[in-house]
Amino acid sequence: MEMLSTTSAIRDEFPILEEEVNKHKLVYLDNAASSQKPKVVIDAMSSYYVHHHSNVHRGIHHLSQVATDMFEGAREEMRSFLNAASTKEIIFTSGTTEGINLVATSLSRGVLKAGDEIMITEMEHHSNIVPWQMAATYSGAKLVVVNVTPDGQIDMEDFHSKLSTKTKLLSVVHVSNALGTVNPVKEITAAAKAVGAWVLIDGAQSAPHIQIDVQDLNCDFFTLSGHKMYGPTGSGVLYGREDVLNEIPPYKGGGEMIETVTFEKTTYNELPFKFEAGTPDIAAALGLAEASRFIKRLGYDQIAQTEAELMSYATEKLGEIEGIQFIGTAPKKSGAISFLIEGTHPSDVGTIIDKLGVAVRTGHHCTQPLMAKFGIPGTIRASFAVYNTKEEVDTFVTAVKRAVKMLK
Ligand code: PMP
Repeated sequence: MEMLSTTSAIRDEFPILEEEVNKHKLVYLDNAASSQKPKVVIDAMSSYYVHHHSNVHRGIHHLSQVATDMFEGAREEMRSFLNAASTKEIIFTSGTTEGINLVATSLSRGVLKAGDEIMITEMEHHSNIVPWQMAATYSGAKLVVVNVTPDGQIDMEDFHSKLSTKTKLLSVVHVSNALGTVNPVKEITAAAKAVGAWVLIDGAQSAPHIQIDVQDLNCDFFTLSGHKMYGPTGSGVLYGREDVLNEIPPYKGGGEMIETVTFEKTTYNELPFKFEAGTPDIAAALGLAEASRFIKRLGYDQIAQTEAELMSYATEKLGEIEGIQFIGTAPKKSGAISFLIEGTHPSDVGTIIDKLGVAVRTGHHCTQPLMAKFGIPGTIRASFAVYNTKEEVDTFVTAVKRAVKMLK
């Protein structure tokens, strides 16, 4: 297999990077929303449909067995990706949103009680806020929110002061999609577990950039979204610690998650199938496993080094723009830079630079409470992947400068 040691070899793997947008070569800096896909991922999915498709876990015929082996092989790949102890702990989902909803819904069915507390932070994505609000409403538990400091870090003093034996579940983002802050999740997990809480880590923005070891983190749940880590949309993993998954009730009911069904009583299947009702997105799981292999071929050292260089170069170049205000200036950041420019609206800047072929995200980034905390409507966010280059950063910064000139 070809080495991926140069940026041009890496870029060759991503056909979409050759596209033009508005007659300009695409500069794709919206990777935190969704990354682009390498050929190996696209080919794995297409080859599955061309040669191997059938339903899984059901048939005794050849294709069904082949598809089942491939699907379970993908589960083993994702177990290794996260360094989980067992494939029983790897539940395929459609992404982080489904992973969090699975846990929140399950816990709201008799596990969480009035008097319990669910702890989140001010920097959570809506998908790590709303499911817990719903779980609180249905269970009678209380939602407790930890403050964020002005530079965009979790206020650890506030965290420790709010943590107590009432805290049943802590759900915290590993890397903030809006600020880029890398949170000290191992330390936070240790503190929460010391008071007997379960811990869910939202890894939607960390899995693309940081090597994950769920046993080292010692968390009870970890969620990721395949489409943010070079995999397909509709793919994701919820890691759950085996003893915890055995303790909590299922999420969706249906085929596959049962052992026996009568109208009087249903018994549930063993892990992980207890949490995988219905026909899964088999092709998406295979694509995700291929994305994991792609990341392993690159190695997180190379990913981290390339992206750190891009982040610091972009921060320096953007810093030349008069009136720029960075939102989120924590010392440890990964993947994303958020900013505002005095006298301009983020969406106006985004619209103008799109005309120049540059794709960034503008708005509240599904973190409205965080934006409210900073007293801003939203930001411009540039987010990076391993295929981005310094030349693209130059094009982006030049485009932003042009937009500012037009708007001021
Ligand atoms: N959490 C974070 C931190 C995210 O950035 C996102 C996606 N923007 C999500 C959760 C939700 O992920 P998905 O839409 O893939 O389910």
